[in-house]
Amino acid sequence: MTRIAIVGVAGRMGRTLVNAVQQDAGASLAGGIVEPGSSLAGADIGELAGLGKLGVAAVDSLEAIVDDFDVLIDFTTPRVTLNNLAACAKHGKGIVIGTTGLDDEELAALDAYRDKLPLVFAPNMSVGVNLTLKLLATAARALGDEGYDIEVIEAHHRHKVDSPSGTALKMGDVVAESLGRTLKEHGVFAREGQCGPRTDKEIGFATVRAGDIVGEHTVMFATEGERIEITHKASSRMTFAKGAVRAARWVAGQGNGRYDMQDVLGL
Ligand code: NAD
Repeated sequence: MTRIAIVGVAGRMGRTLVNAVQQDAGASLAGGIVEPGSSLAGADIGELAGLGKLGVAAVDSLEAIVDDFDVLIDFTTPRVTLNNLAACAKHGKGIVIGTTGLDDEELAALDAYRDKLPLVFAPNMSVGVNLTLKLLATAARALGDEGYDIEVIEAHHRHKVDSPSGTALKMGDVVAESLGRTLKEHGVFAREGQCGPRTDKEIGFATVRAGDIVGEHTVMFATEGERIEITHKASSRMTFAKGAVRAARWVAGQGNGRYDMQDVLGL
């Protein structure tokens, strides 16, 4: 039984994660962490998640429950995640990170922990998205150098703070890597005004932010005469939460290293 603590437990993903851990026979809920000084400290995390009392009170510091859990699941913000990585490394815990929007410096800081603890980091924990990444690599290899234009289109709810989504960037990365391109050189993240025709090798990104859309991604391969679209639509945050709990159970048995969902799922 893997004992799991959830940081950001009052957030959208945090509350969904409480549900997912409760539904998983191989995992137990060891604690929930809210922001330091939050008025929600002391609240029952089952009640925060709309499940009724579970007898686990939210705390506002990781140190308060450090003896109680094996793996921390973190869906918060880049800065908070880096602090939690340091704490988990210090206390010999595993960590599953779903936080997105890390800049290059923050990604390098995260990567520096690869030999200090077992960590899973993935911008999208859904099984379907991770299978989609495999399909994209195959499609890109078959089409990308044969005159097909590649565009990534994503839509999310109005509260999302980073853009394009971590998943869209990951999809773009997988496609670019399969074709020997890089997003740094070939990614096009905005088009406005007289920006001219597209170039052959660019990989374009377009973003929609509206309402309560959980997460939709399409990668389009278009040429004269046909268009192939590979689409994933998430209809509930539960798909990410279930993937994260699966990752937590998996990482509990791993040595130090940086892993992604492809490792967890054996894809
Ligand atoms: P949210 O704003 O609803 O939740 C974040 C929570 O973190 C908030 O409740 C906030 O109070 C809490 N928090 C902030 N600082 C904290 C601290 N120091 N200690 C404890 N808690 C703290 O956001 P969300 O929609 O749940 O998304 C969170 C992150 O997860 C985002 O980066 C989002 O893009 C990402 N996400 C990833 C996946 C995936 O599959 N990898 C899926 C969905 C969302």
